[in-house]
Parts: sequence; structure tokens; C-alpha cells
Amino acid sequence: MREEYKFSVVKPEERYDAVVIGGGPNGLGIAAYLAKAGLKVCICEERLQCGGGAENTEPIPGFRIDPHATYFYAGASPALEQLELFKFGFRMRFFKTLAGTVTEDGKAIISGRFNIKNTIESIARYSKKDAEFIRMMYENFEPYTRDFLRSIFWTPPYTDWSSPEELPWFRFIKEKAPGLAVLIPLDIAMELSTYELLDMQFEFEPLKVIMGQGAWYNGPFPAWRGMGIFGLATGLLMAYSSGSPQGGMHSYMHALIRCCLHYGVKIYTNAKVGEIIVENGEAKGVVLSDDSFYPGKVILADKLVISAIDVKQTFLKLLKGKHIPKPLLQKIKDINLHGGSLFVLHLIVKELPKYKGDAEKLFFENGNYPSVVALPGDSREFILNQARDVFSLRTHPMRRESMHVMICCHDIYDDTRCPPGYHILSPIYIQVPPPEYHKDGPEAVNKAKWEIAENIIDFIREFAPNMTEDNIVAKFINTPLDSEFRNTGFIGGNWYAIRECEDQWWSFRPIPELARYRTPIHKLYLCHQTSYPGGLCLLAVPYNLMHILIDDGAVKKPDWWFPSPYHIPDKEKRF
Ligand SMILES: Cc1cc2nc3c(=O)[nH]c(=O)nc-3n(C[C@H](O)[C@H](O)[C@H](O)COP(=O)(O)OP(=O)(O)OC[C@H]3O[C@@H](n4cnc5c(N)ncnc54)[C@H](O)[C@@H]3O)c2cc1C
Repeated sequence: MREEYKFSVVKPEERYDAVVIGGGPNGLGIAAYLAKAGLKVCICEERLQCGGGAENTEPIPGFRIDPHATYFYAGASPALEQLELFKFGFRMRFFKTLAGTVTEDGKAIISGRFNIKNTIESIARYSKKDAEFIRMMYENFEPYTRDFLRSIFWTPPYTDWSSPEELPWFRFIKEKAPGLAVLIPLDIAMELSTYELLDMQFEFEPLKVIMGQGAWYNGPFPAWRGMGIFGLATGLLMAYSSGSPQGGMHSYMHALIRCCLHYGVKIYTNAKVGEIIVENGEAKGVVLSDDSFYPGKVILADKLVISAIDVKQTFLKLLKGKHIPKPLLQKIKDINLHGGSLFVLHLIVKELPKYKGDAEKLFFENGNYPSVVALPGDSREFILNQARDVFSLRTHPMRRESMHVMICCHDIYDDTRCPPGYHILSPIYIQVPPPEYHKDGPEAVNKAKWEIAENIIDFIREFAPNMTEDNIVAKFINTPLDSEFRNTGFIGGNWYAIRECEDQWWSFRPIPELARYRTPIHKLYLCHQTSYPGGLCLLAVPYNLMHILIDDGAVKKPDWWFPSPYHIPDKEKRF
């Protein structure tokens, strides 16, 4: 190709009000917000498509699998209303029965916000007390769930709090739903783990297993101290939304992309940013890297540069460790992005797993088949053993005593996912160590991946004998290293970036100095899952950041904007 032809489609230098680095859910979300607020915005995305971790692939045409994000948790998000995503093609498929579990001795329960009668009946067979508690919680607190979740996830953290009483979710419970204090004893809540909170309320272990597992796969490990409220809340996020976008999470991203385009956002793909330009302590724009579609291209930003990629890459690579005080730089270097590495298996099958025992009848009547089944439901010991293998022994779980798996299937409720006559069990998860921490080296899981997969299938077959080779049409795997290869932001295939534990949550995330999405560099802000509230495609980071940008005077408050009622603005304006 002739040299002048190659680059003639773009101007060598462009100018916008705001440049967003990274076109994942958080980058797209903030770009849509800013453009709708009237700013001229450009997104630079490294990959050939936007959407980040919310992507679907078709390893066989017509069969859609979810390599990363699979469940929609953003049902309570104000962004759905403010960005009017339904106008841009966003469609949900709600799951009548969200989750279920099966025990080795054949007990089975289901749970689903849209299937509450059958949920309660399934639990009542084993524990009348727990069934009654669930009924009471549902009847009394369902109307408050959305605002409770908003007080936790969709409110910017602020650093000047001195007592838990000042925190938004405490204020919410006290002011709006004092009865919730039955579930969450406020005086000790900030010290308890998810399991401790569950033990206070429930007696039937499988119910606690499934709720604890819901916490782990969405954020905090259920035994982590001080994360009890958030563990329950992350489970509630999933229960409240109870579904997935039609066709998979990537279609949600398409709605966001269309929203961006509608408000005039320029989207560049194959546009890896190599550097953030800073002059006199102020962010001025970005330079595209040598392996982008236009090496060295400069994109200027008059008002804002938003980094929607991880905090370490932002400061260490794009800013090359410059422009901030050394002690702060050291703190950023010390942030650990390793932790939530998932081994992801996908199976195309002809028949759904037919679990033995009570599930045989329960799952196949009245639309009760759960979109996710956690195995086994017997005891949290299996989960604790898996955590021991992953966190302490630093190996992938292979022993029977450490086997605990999540088996998801969306096509029961979404017939666009695969042709008739088939089902896709995607994803099937177990936890594994981050590659660098594995005792046998970073490649260990990749080398053992088929052995790990067969071990998982054998385990599932113990509960569902029809999971034979005849039933399984195809198998696919993405290991943590594969996930990192697909998306450079998923360090070690980690779904939540920085661990969601007591000292890396709320105003401690990613570190207190950066908790409010601001950086010491004027006009440079953070908008990625390394900021609060962390992983999941909630559109919470962009919504929270908008509060700060409006407070700072960087964005004029639009008339469609409504803030979190719990947001506490800073005293000073920045712009
Ligand atoms: C296995 C797995 C399962 C998950 N399951 C769920 C789920 O069920 N539901 C859910 O909501 N979430 C789930 N998640 C988490 C979810 O995918 C992430 O929290 C979400 O994608 C984070 O969005 P983000 O925009 O902050 O970052 P990302 O999605 O990582 O997006 C960042 C984007 O920036 C781009 N980028 C990186 N560097 C550069 C650069 N230098 N220049 C330009 N672009 C760059 C990347 O290519 C990427 O597109 C899961 C994650 C994993 C790994």
C-alpha cells in the first residue's frame, strides 16, 4: 500500500473535549455520559472491538459462549435510565429461576426473584424456618432492594468518614429500611464475613453454600472479615437483575456503543494508547502506540483525559511513572492486581444435565431449571478447600474434597444463544491460582487444562449421570492466561482487578489518594474496575465519576442528571 494512502483516512492530530482510554464497559459508559452531557468525546480502544470483558464468541457458528462476563448485575443502575439504553437496542432475557444447588444425598433447592413461590417451597421441604425468613425478607424488603444496592454500588466513595454510621448504606438502612437491620446487625456489621452473617440468619447449609458462593463469584470471598454486607449485596445484585442481555453481554455493549455514536462519540479501535501527554501537571491528550492503526498519532483533549484501563498500567506505562510524587508511585506499584483467576469451561450438549435426587423432578417442572447450578450444595467445606488450594497451596483444585463448580446455562431462557436441540453450558467455573503464583509456574494451568476439564466433567457426572461423552458435542476452555491474552486488562484472568477485601474496598480502593477517581494530574481521571466498586459491568464507575466531574466543574450538570442521594461533594472545585 502506498504510504500516503495508508494514513489518508485520519487527520494526523485531532482535538476533543475528552479522550477516553479503553472501550470496555466503563470506558463506553463514561464516554456515553460525557457525550450526552454535550462534550465532544473520543474513545481509543486497543482491541479490534469495544466491549472489554463483556464479550461473546461463537467457536461454532450459531453457538454463543461467554468467555468472561456472563450475568447482568446492573439492573439497579441509574445509568440504564440516564443513558436510556432500551432506546439503543438493549434487551434483557430474565431468568425465572436464577440459581439452584444439589447435594450428594440428593437434596435440591432453587432460588429466583421471579419464581419466589417455588423458591420458598423448595426450601421449606428442608427448613421451614429458612423458608419463612426468605418469605418475610422478600415481602418486606424487595421494594427497597434497588435503593439499597444504589447506596452501596452507585455512590462515590468519600474518604473523610470516621464512623460506619456515616456510610451511605448505613444511612439508607436507618432512614429508609430500619427493618433490614434484622438481617444486618449494624453495630458489628463492618466486622462480619458473609458466612458469619448467613450463620446468624439461616440453618440449612445448602442455602448458605449457594449464597456464599454468590458472594465469591461476584466479589468478596465469603469468609473474608468485614465483607459480609458487600458479600450479601453482590449476591443481591445478581438476584435483583436475574438475567442476561439477549444474546449475551456483548449485546449490552452494542447498546452502549450505539448510545455513544448517537451522541457523537468518535470510536477508534486498534488504537492502543502508548502515552498520556502531560504538560505542567495537566493532562493534554494521548499518543497512540507503535502497534496501533496510526503509530504516534496525537489526540488532544481540551477538558479531560479519562483512563478506563487499570490503575497500574495508567501510571506505570502510560505516564511512565512520571508526574506524581514518588511515595504515591510506590503505593501504586504495590497494588496487587492478582487474585480472582477463573478457569472457564464451555460445553455444548444435547441434553441439559439431569441431576439425581430431588432435582430430577424439581428442576424439570414449572420453569424451575436454574440458570446456574452450584455443585455440591452439601457444605461450605468444599469452597474453603478450594480456596485453600488456590490461595495457600497455590495449585489448581483437582482433589474431590476441593471440587466446587458453577454450571451456567443461559439458553434455557434465551433461545438466541444456540440452535434448537442443543444447550450451551457456558461458563462452567472453578477458581485457580493467578498464573504467576502457581507453584508449578505460570503455564501450569494451561498445560493441565484438559486434565482439569475432564476432572470437572467427571465430577458433574457424579450428580448428573447423563453428562456422558455421547451427550457432549464440543468442549472449549479459556484459562486465565487465555483471558489475559484476549484482554490485557484482565491480569491473570482476574474478574475484579484489585481484591474486594476489607482494606481494598470503598475509600481504600485502589488507594485512598485515588479513591474519588481523581489523580494528582489535573484533568486526568480514572474510570476502570480498579476503582470503586470494582469488577462487574455495573456502569457504576462512570455514574460515580460523573458526580466528581460535575463537582469539579469539568462537566456542567445536565438537566437529565440525578445524583446519588448519599453523595457528599468535596468542599473545593477543581476547574
Ligand atoms: C472470567 C470472568 C467472568 C466474569 N463474569 C462477569 C459477569 O458474569 N458479569 C459481570 O458483570 N462481569 C463479569 N466479569 C467482570 C467484567 O468483565 C469486568 O469487571 C469488566 O469487563 C470491567 O470493565 P472495564 O471497562 O473496567 O475493563 P475492561 O473490560 O478490561 O475494558 C478495558 C478495555 O481497555 C482496553 N485497553 C487496555 N489497555 C489499553 C490501552 N493501552 N489503550 C487502549 N485500550 C486499552 C482493553 O482492550 C479493554 O477493551 C467477569 C470477568 C472475568 C474475567
